[in-house]
Amino acid sequence: MTAGKSGPVQPKPGPAKSGPAKPDPAKPDPASVETWLFDLDNTLYPAACNLFDQIDRRMGLFIEARLGLPPGEARSLQKTFFREHGTTLRGLMDRHAVPPADYLDFVHDIDLSVVAASPGLDAALARLPGRKAIYTNASADHAHRVLDRLEVAHHFVGIFDIADAAYLPKPDPRGYHAAIAALELDPERTVFFEDSARNLVPAHALGMTTVWVRHEAEFSARDAEHATIHHTTNDLVAWLEGVLTGPDDVPAP
Ligand SMILES: [Mg+2]
Repeated sequence: MTAGKSGPVQPKPGPAKSGPAKPDPAKPDPASVETWLFDLDNTLYPAACNLFDQIDRRMGLFIEARLGLPPGEARSLQKTFFREHGTTLRGLMDRHAVPPADYLDFVHDIDLSVVAASPGLDAALARLPGRKAIYTNASADHAHRVLDRLEVAHHFVGIFDIADAAYLPKPDPRGYHAAIAALELDPERTVFFEDSARNLVPAHALGMTTVWVRHEAEFSARDAEHATIHHTTNDLVAWLEGVLTGPDDVPAP
């Protein structure tokens, strides 16, 4: 994990002032945000590029090979691990003592050419004041490769990955506490972006502002009814541009 606290510390926002009603929900004032914390897969790049589908398929292949299962059984077990252990990896570690590096190297051996450079994301991150960091259930190596493809790596002061979380995946609250310590986050001044709604639950409980970057896959909405979601978007770059330009200038959907 690479992290550093840099730049001037913005003053804490004061108590709410009376005045004209603001649009609901009001987007955060960028000047009051110390850290913009992003999930990686399907959050920083569009789910529609199907990169995660490649990872998902290789998770199944890994289970087939390691446990000697036919594809159907491996697929079923993969879904059980995700549901009951948070990630496929955690299930393999808990129930089959799989070394995490073996698994992570295998599942992230994918074709990253489907992820295109994102000048829009690059420009929005450049304009956002405050620090930007990554909190991912994947490996830091994978995160670095994806950030390089997007051409946005230089914006991020830290990557908190699954090894940093002692392989306790989101939404395990212990990982969030570890991320807060490692990245030196003030949760009350952190905005957290995630495509998996269930991973927003602990973030909100710890005081973060939550942004759900939703997409069509079933898992994106799982547990959404239990998550306190402050903002929802299906276009991260447009949402960031809206924060930067104010509510009157939000690009049309
Ligand atoms: Mg994700």
